[in-house]
Amino acid sequence: MSNHYRMRLKFWGVRGSTPTPAAENLAYGGNTPCLEVRFPDNRIFVFDAGTGIRNLGLSLGEEFGYRDLSVKIFLTHFHWDHIQGLPFFEPLYHEGCKAAFYAFSPQASLQEMLKGQMKSPYFPVEFEFMAARKDYVNMGQESMHFGEVSVHPFPLHHPQGAFGYRIESGSAVIVYASDLEHGDPKLDKTVREYSEGADILIFDSQFTPQQYRNHQGWGHSTWLEATKVARDSNVKRLFLFHHHPSHDDRTFSRLVEEARAHFGNTDGAREGQEFDL
Ligand SMILES: [Zn+2]
Ligand SMILES: [Zn+2]
Repeated sequence: MSNHYRMRLKFWGVRGSTPTPAAENLAYGGNTPCLEVRFPDNRIFVFDAGTGIRNLGLSLGEEFGYRDLSVKIFLTHFHWDHIQGLPFFEPLYHEGCKAAFYAFSPQASLQEMLKGQMKSPYFPVEFEFMAARKDYVNMGQESMHFGEVSVHPFPLHHPQGAFGYRIESGSAVIVYASDLEHGDPKLDKTVREYSEGADILIFDSQFTPQQYRNHQGWGHSTWLEATKVARDSNVKRLFLFHHHPSHDDRTFSRLVEEARAHFGNTDGAREGQEFDL
């Protein structure tokens, strides 16, 4: 593959809340959230560590081996569906690998938060057993700069809090905004500001507007709200994301069609798809 891109995005997990590995879901995919953003110099940034990160780990191992692999892993928050793949991320078991974790972690240190899900009796292997070199950045709201790449975190309206990310490289912009609920005036404005002019906006579309009526306060949004943000923020392309576990391929394709009537350049995020910017 050529390196003529500013950023390459790949969806490794797109499903919300819980994995749904059933035949009727496989066109969009059953793994929980994980995105890979790669830069031309092969730097690899990962966003969220849902079950999709397992396949990413295996794929990186095949491509680079496990001797000198380095990734940055940015977490939106610590709900299960965004961290549950981490114990199965193969590079973490190899001494030659390096992982730097970035998250907003107000309750406890980021390291403690990550250890938690692997504590006895929840998992047979302790987090410390994983041999990779691990670094932790308990980030705030400040922008982070990595050479010509910058990552701008912004707060989302979600139970226990969550962060979205605006990722910029050259003139290309990807905005990752999952998990959030609309309806908080201040944060509705924030997500629009950070999404301004994005080439790609990935947005929490867990519910239909009808479903949402019975799920206010659950921390998720709708495809309709996603199209409004995309329009208000002059986004070029919208991906509906964090698919509801009970939306099978057929249902979800219909929702994507409905969304296109409101914002033409809309797609449903599909596991395995990649895009060059
Ligand atoms: Zn989630
Ligand atoms: Zn969540």
